[in-house]
Amino acid sequence: MSGPRLLLDENRSQSWRDNPINSGEMRNAAVTMSQAEYDQWWIARIKARCIVDSNGCWIWQGQKTYNGYGQTSYRSKTLILHRKMFQVAKGIALGRWEYACHSCDVKLCCNPDHLWKGTPLDNQVDCVMKRRNGEQKVTHCPQGHEYTPENTYIHAAKSGRPARNCRACMRMRASSPEYRAKARERQRLRRLAAKHSQVTP
Ligand SMILES: [Zn+2]
Ligand SMILES: [Zn+2]
Repeated sequence: MSGPRLLLDENRSQSWRDNPINSGEMRNAAVTMSQAEYDQWWIARIKARCIVDSNGCWIWQGQKTYNGYGQTSYRSKTLILHRKMFQVAKGIALGRWEYACHSCDVKLCCNPDHLWKGTPLDNQVDCVMKRRNGEQKVTHCPQGHEYTPENTYIHAAKSGRPARNCRACMRMRASSPEYRAKARERQRLRRLAAKHSQVTP
């Protein structure tokens, strides 16, 4: 039974594991590399595992997250690929609620030149426009108003995550007697607080 075994060995010789840039020696050496050396090797190694398409997208061929983004490791930590690539290649750190957004709209692309730094708001606006994220599958508010760009109010929720509100519903709520009473009360308290802060320096 030498046939199947030969085939297996043949496949193995072409596999990613045997690519020199990903060899065991290289990965061992990486442990002692300086930060700059490691970053350079990491980027080259990632690119070697991508297929570059006609748009210049580096399409990742490795592991994916449940929602379709590239996943890889950096210094033994498992990370979202395009987000890490943006930070490593551009030297820009991303805060917890900052995003690496794709200008090409290809989730598996990790070409740093196709990525830009967005706030939760930018990212959400981008998602609304491209109707991409999970929430976007909901096209109408619970009252049946469509989430068009004009009718969608995007804001950061208390958690810092972006959230959507229906403007038509907001207008309706704003004109209800209960809402107006609450708004008056909030305003009264704000005035009181302002007065108080003037008295005590
Ligand atoms: Zn791209
Ligand atoms: Zn609504």
